[in-house]
Amino acid sequence: MPMKHPTKPARTDQDVSIDPLFTREGGVPRHHLPAQEMAPDLAYQTIHDELMLDGNARMNLATFVSTWMEPQAQQLMSECYDKNMIDKDEYPQTADLEVRCVEILSRLWNAPDASQATGCSTTGSSEAAMLGGLALKRRWQQARTAAGLPTDRPNIVMGINVQVCWEKFANYWDVEMRLVPMSGSRYHMSADEAVKLCDENTIGVVGVLGSTYDGSYEPIKEICDALDALRDRTGLDIPVHVDGASGAFIAPFLDPDLPWDFRLPRVASINTSGHKYGLVYPGVGWVIWRDAAALPADLIFWVNYLGDNMPTFALNFSRPGAQIVAQYYNFLRLGFDGYKKVQGYAREVATRLSALIAELGPFELITRGDELPVFAFKLKDGVDNFTVFDVSNAVRERGWLLPAYTVPADCTDLAALRVVVKRGFGHDMADLLLADLKRQLPRLQTQPAPVHDGTAPAFSH
Ligand SMILES: *Cc1c(COP(=O)(O)O)cnc(C)c1O
Repeated sequence: MPMKHPTKPARTDQDVSIDPLFTREGGVPRHHLPAQEMAPDLAYQTIHDELMLDGNARMNLATFVSTWMEPQAQQLMSECYDKNMIDKDEYPQTADLEVRCVEILSRLWNAPDASQATGCSTTGSSEAAMLGGLALKRRWQQARTAAGLPTDRPNIVMGINVQVCWEKFANYWDVEMRLVPMSGSRYHMSADEAVKLCDENTIGVVGVLGSTYDGSYEPIKEICDALDALRDRTGLDIPVHVDGASGAFIAPFLDPDLPWDFRLPRVASINTSGHKYGLVYPGVGWVIWRDAAALPADLIFWVNYLGDNMPTFALNFSRPGAQIVAQYYNFLRLGFDGYKKVQGYAREVATRLSALIAELGPFELITRGDELPVFAFKLKDGVDNFTVFDVSNAVRERGWLLPAYTVPADCTDLAALRVVVKRGFGHDMADLLLADLKRQLPRLQTQPAPVHDGTAPAFSH
């Protein structure tokens, strides 16, 4: 099914035009398979030229996904492009590196018994969320069935700030979504509000570390404590899944005293994006369960591996092995201290830049970048002749991709800008962005009325 963008005009049937020095044909069809082959150099140059119009990934402050890796990692990846990670029998060492990554993450997140490390790689946090959610749903179904209770109305509780993958989970797997609204200046879920939405049909509560909208950590320990109290009161024993897409690669290094992981007995599973602060190019993610019991055995499939059987749990079958190898490269290359340095520097850049932006005058910080190295800011009340969307457009002139978006529900009128500081974006680049903001502000501050009001499609990530 070709999916058309609803707001984009129909695409023209114009040919792809080819440089006349290289071919006598004027062009080749754009939307159907050309009848004949062309020289590889020509095909390369034609596509390469078109891609120049894509934004510069290193200036993309919108994405959480890695935009820089060391050349050695790139070399390893290119050596593995031809390896399918599901062929565990054919590529036993790639399979072994995946197992080692699962063990490393399981220990990093303080799973109680390292010998029971249970988890797998995925294409990203979205697939990992599907798997984590499915395990919650299956465990709930099994417990209900064993007790002779109906299993037709499962629900999952989370903040309205969850990433879209959780809405997909609820939609695709027929689970009712119960969303904690935002209120006032609280842009993520509170423990009390979460517990209020729980009942006997709740398969789990999803806590986010940290929120995609503003980089803030949800209070995972308080959520677990509140669910402990609920169990003591009512007997309902509801597990927690932590969506650590970004934070599961930040908190272990920068916030060692924050209990958010398997140190909390109620945390059943954790997902992360290897391609965000795991520092790998897209796409790799991970999901880890606290122990083998947290992942129902009937969700596991067995594949042949060195003449033995190896458990797998995944939505995909074939998938690139290169990203897994690159993840292991980072673990080996950086170690704990290396990750701590990289993430610590990102937090330093984020908090310094947010403070300098706050000093510019018209902006007010929503977050400072002291949890995830991500911060959001808005225009101060009373600034009404330009919008955050105008600011986003203004710095785009210099190539910065700085997204403006509106925060969902309860605060629908809140429009904000967000900066995701990643490896490869240091103090110097931050200063360049700041200088560009300073250069643009006088023009924005004297324009008579807003130009961009945010009605164009917004960032959804
Ligand atoms: C990015 C993100 C996701 C989705 O992860 P992908 O790796 O892009 O699939 C889910 N949850 C949170 C909190 C995120 O930041």
